[in-house]
Amino acid sequence: MKPARFRYLRAASVDDALQALADNPDAHILAGGQSLIAMMNLRLVKPACLIDINRIPDIGYIREDGDGIAIGALARHNDVKHSPLIRERCPLLTEAYESIAHHTVRNRGTLGGNLCHADPSSEAPAVMVAMGATLVLQSLRGRREVGAEDFFLGTYETARQQDEMLVEIRIPGRGANGWAFAEISNRHGDFAIAVVATTVTLANGRCEAARVVASGVGEHAARLEPAEEALVGGPIDDARLDAAASAAAGAVDPHSDSHADAAYRRDAIAALTKRTVRRAAGRCG
Ligand SMILES: Cc1cc2nc3c(=O)[nH]c(=O)nc-3n(C[C@H](O)[C@H](O)[C@H](O)COP(=O)(O)OP(=O)(O)OC[C@H]3O[C@@H](n4cnc5c(N)ncnc54)[C@H](O)[C@@H]3O)c2cc1C
Repeated sequence: MKPARFRYLRAASVDDALQALADNPDAHILAGGQSLIAMMNLRLVKPACLIDINRIPDIGYIREDGDGIAIGALARHNDVKHSPLIRERCPLLTEAYESIAHHTVRNRGTLGGNLCHADPSSEAPAVMVAMGATLVLQSLRGRREVGAEDFFLGTYETARQQDEMLVEIRIPGRGANGWAFAEISNRHGDFAIAVVATTVTLANGRCEAARVVASGVGEHAARLEPAEEALVGGPIDDARLDAAASAAAGAVDPHSDSHADAAYRRDAIAALTKRTVRRAAGRCG
């Protein structure tokens, strides 16, 4: 399949891209093209104009941001995956990258594009919600920051307005002292059937805070608050693990498709919750 006709604009700067977005209300930003071009070829989207941001200098950075990390719009998946800074400050994301796509796709695809694409089976949105990340959006109207929890609204739907560009992803310093990611997919590198990303904070053997975030089982990555509540307030023992797993299964309303039926996805979420919470607790210093 070939895409429908479109205009191609190459932005030389962020300001250039923002002006082009404002001037072309039906434009899409082209980052790595690893999702957008496939969707255009299938004619699932038909943008009249593409704004290529690949030649904008200095927006592919990964750098310290206080205790946390700031990631530029054009940071490629593989740069994030192999970044020592990310491994040190957000090892949950490094662990998730073991399951995200394939080497060639990661060479070109960007974390920013992945988040803006908002595939309901994508792994990175779950990590962003678990870490309490902030997405920085910019337009000619100004800049605003949106928490990851409020950014993902539905299947391929985010809080980004049409004239806004995602310019930065900010991940705060690691508040939680335990973390773990796990997923079930048909083949390594495929989109997930079910994902759980977990962070826990343990103090004196007692769970003080937890985030259990699922993806692949709803329209977007979302916290499983009943599971989090089942963990907080005591030691992470077998009883708490069982309670969290069954609360997680009860908190999702998964769909059936050719990869897995709803009952399988629900069981998977229970198993992945138990697995990630146990591993996260084991990692607490
Ligand atoms: C074979 C294959 C396997 C894959 N497997 C996985 C997988 O297992 N897990 C997974 O999560 N993903 C997977 N992907 C998708 C991959 O992660 C893509 O790289 C990602 O979804 C999109 O990033 P991109 O940079 O390629 O964005 P693009 O395809 O260029 O853009 C995607 C969308 O985001 C918008 N956009 C991009 N950047 C910005 C920005 N800065 N501001 C505003 N809007 C923007 C675009 O306009 C477009 O609507 C796979 C892709 C392929 C081809």
